[in-house]
Amino acid sequence: MPTQPPRYRPPGWKPGKPWERPGLFVKDNRKRGRAGMRDRAAVLAEEPLCRLCLDKGLEVASDIVDHIVPLAWGGSDQRHNKQGLCTPCHDEKSKAERKLAQRRKIADFD
Ligand SMILES: [Zn+2]
Repeated sequence: MPTQPPRYRPPGWKPGKPWERPGLFVKDNRKRGRAGMRDRAAVLAEEPLCRLCLDKGLEVASDIVDHIVPLAWGGSDQRHNKQGLCTPCHDEKSKAERKLAQRRKIADFD
């Protein structure tokens, strides 16, 4: 008995090999070191207030730079995919993403 609905696969799709996935051997394109620090500081300077709190009408200082589409889901490390969030909002968003990934196994690239 099938337990999951069939997933759409583009023509020519093949399952990713474990050694081709970002992780231990393959790096994602996230900026690290000083370049990453400079980038995060620039985003926080541009967005001093948490975006999700602003939507709720609150003014809370942002202290984390968040990837709107997570890197693990193929999101880019460019400025348009980044936003400033406060820690509680970021924790909540990450928790929801983990739950979704667990349910749909997006993070597995399968
Ligand atoms: Zn917030």
